[in-house]
Amino acid sequence: MARRWVQESSPCTAGKRTAHVHASVALTLSDKSIVNLHRPLLAACLISFTSLARCSSTGGAPSPLGDGDAAATGGPESGNGAGGASSGGVSSGSGSGSRAGNGTRSGNSGSASGSASNASGSGKGGNSGTGTAGSSASGSGPSSGTGLGNLGGNGCAGGTCLNPTCTPWPTGTKGAAIETYPGTGFDVQPAFIPNDVIIPTLDDVPDGAVSPPTQAKGAGGWAALNLSYLDANKMHWDLFINTSNDWTANSCDNWGASMNAACVAGAMDILKLHNPGNHTAHHWHLGTAPANTVPAGKGCGDAACVAGELLGVESVVSAVSKGARPHLTRFRAPFGEPYEVGAGAPGYDLVAAVVARYAVSVGWNLDSTDSLYDDGTNCTALNGNAPVATCPTGQDIAHAVEVLIGTPGTGTNYGIVLMHGIFPWTRDAIPLLFDPATGYLAKNKFRVGTVEDAICWKYGKHSWDVINALNHLKGTPQELGPN
Ligand SMILES: [Zn+2]
Repeated sequence: MARRWVQESSPCTAGKRTAHVHASVALTLSDKSIVNLHRPLLAACLISFTSLARCSSTGGAPSPLGDGDAAATGGPESGNGAGGASSGGVSSGSGSGSRAGNGTRSGNSGSASGSASNASGSGKGGNSGTGTAGSSASGSGPSSGTGLGNLGGNGCAGGTCLNPTCTPWPTGTKGAAIETYPGTGFDVQPAFIPNDVIIPTLDDVPDGAVSPPTQAKGAGGWAALNLSYLDANKMHWDLFINTSNDWTANSCDNWGASMNAACVAGAMDILKLHNPGNHTAHHWHLGTAPANTVPAGKGCGDAACVAGELLGVESVVSAVSKGARPHLTRFRAPFGEPYEVGAGAPGYDLVAAVVARYAVSVGWNLDSTDSLYDDGTNCTALNGNAPVATCPTGQDIAHAVEVLIGTPGTGTNYGIVLMHGIFPWTRDAIPLLFDPATGYLAKNKFRVGTVEDAICWKYGKHSWDVINALNHLKGTPQELGPN
């Protein structure tokens, strides 16, 4: 989501304003410098953020100083070898729309119990998955044709990914020890991802109709259009889900509660053909007390709130999938907070300790800048505050990515790309970059990977096995499976 509204990368804003003083400098520079330039500037914003709670308030993310996650200390559990029985995740069915909301851990356990263990283990095993023998569930189980139980143990949604054997990279290395707060970090050149790999991610999905239409979002429904394009081209991406996004007005803003049909359909498409990730229920500022956000009430200052933000999405996704996907083990923090800054950021230990119970934190290695052009309603200049007449184009966004990635081995950045599924210009940029025949990546011989590929390259373990190892869940009824 955009900056103060929805996006990840933006600066704090009273966010916006504070940062904009800085950002206006960036505006005079070329695209290429902008993102990098942002970083120290945003850092400055963060400093003010720490001393003035205000900055956070409106604000987007403080900033990037490198790889917060990677800085974490070596975790207690490294090893554990083979992964467990990926319980094909069947667990009771019949969730109808009622589990929305945040809070409790209801519905979590039991997932592993009927353990239809479809695939064998961490990393190996093909995508065989007949989606589990829905041993549990009463008829509404995942094997009933929804296809939602079909994720095999190798984590390759749709059967395609680059690292189906979950082997560490570079070849011959052992894989990183699991940190206290595992995550993929924010390095511009992540050592564990091959430099010819680009991993697209779309946040803030699904979105629904925007009525009346606005300048920046038009009539909405961009996530559905993106999914149609991806599905038609057999592309299987990572999409990070909100269920009650609190920053923008569209019909998916509270779809967990309403089970709005279009929003549910979007979520189903993601679960069937893509890699779902948790982007929190409300897209609040994690690590900032609600009283310190602007407007007030859009933060999480304690562990229970943070847990509720993750479990709220899990509950809805579990209900939509009728128990087939009780957990999501890939997580992206709204605004990147507090991970982009990492250790030392306000609330970092509080937030990261909670998240590590559920999911691997997924950062980004480059920002498409797509969320930096609107105020939630109207278009602005890059990092701008005031509405402008002209919105960015798909070419603008594609160009911002192209200048960072260059060609394999020559770019300043590679790896995970931050994008959002809720903007018209992102929809237009996607074919320019990713079309299998004519896109920039194909023409320049980049490969397209997934977040799970990256987690496997880093740890030699799937996201669920990382969390199982860290939390001693292996072999327990709470053991997490592929998702
Ligand atoms: Zn977001």
